[in-house]
Amino acid sequence: MTDTNVQRIALVGIGLIGSSIANAVRKENLAAHIAISTRSETTLARAEVLNLGDSYHAQATDAVKDADIVVISVPLSACEAVAKEISTALKPGAIVTDVSSCKASVIADMGPHIPDGVHFVPGHPIAGTEHSGPDAGFADLFKGRWCILTPPKGTDEKAVEQISELWKEMGSMVEVMEPEHHDQVLAITSHLPHLIAYSIVDTATNLQDDLKQEVIKFSASGFRDFTRIAASDPVMWRDVFMKNRDAVLDILGQFSEDLAALQRAIRRGEADKLEEVFTRTREIRRSVIDFKQD
Ligand code: NAP
Repeated sequence: MTDTNVQRIALVGIGLIGSSIANAVRKENLAAHIAISTRSETTLARAEVLNLGDSYHAQATDAVKDADIVVISVPLSACEAVAKEISTALKPGAIVTDVSSCKASVIADMGPHIPDGVHFVPGHPIAGTEHSGPDAGFADLFKGRWCILTPPKGTDEKAVEQISELWKEMGSMVEVMEPEHHDQVLAITSHLPHLIAYSIVDTATNLQDDLKQEVIKFSASGFRDFTRIAASDPVMWRDVFMKNRDAVLDILGQFSEDLAALQRAIRRGEADKLEEVFTRTREIRRSVIDFKQD
């Protein structure tokens, strides 16, 4: 075992993210015992077939009992109920963390249910795929990706350090941020692009049948990349837009204005204006590659 020295880690929720954590913890030997719990019997049985953990529990309270670290990987809309359910079973000194895509809402939802003497270190791995469920996870999902931690003010520094260490051992780089700032940054880097992808693919869905077939046939011309993003889990993304409403509406307003400016440039035949914008955006792509986040 490494210096994280975790005897028992409990994973509540074992979909794409939970199972990736299970695989990474197992691969890097980051805990002596992995206890798994999930809502449905089917998913729990599947996790066992995949040998993701050391024990499997229908009740989350049984999984978190005696756990040093508890990782909640369920949809945003379920976080509050899960935190409430496990609250009486957590051992003093345990650390509860999560992986949710919005942080201010999760702190408001889960925070009140974390008992005194238990630490709460919210987190968000900036890593994922469009797939869901326990079969979708893999140990290297977090390698070379950022994980953002948003501990509420006054959180025990050692607890933050321990969760930070856990993510680093799983291959991530870690940054600590204010939850509201996280939500603003993710609104532009993740939430808005997903909304645009959902919208474009839906526009294609509404086209007349023959045109729609052509769109699918010639999708390699750009549409294909949007279909991958728009195949992301509908419940997860419904929750993101419900929970990060203000930051998303703010950036959506700016985006709509910029889109209208491009529309005007096309209508007016302002070729230079278009070229100037497209040259600027190309630089951003180069920076993303330089940061190894492509
Ligand atoms: P997922 O593959 O769909 O797995 C969801 C897990 O949560 C399953 O174990 C599921 O249990 C359980 N669950 C679903 N609804 C529930 C409910 N109402 N109450 C209790 N448990 C419930 O989801 P995921 O992609 O791992 O996402 C989990 C979290 O990670 C989300 O909060 C998301 O914001 C965050 N996240 C996702 C990504 C991504 O790319 N997917 C990236 C970063 C962060 P059953 O199968 O047993 O019903």
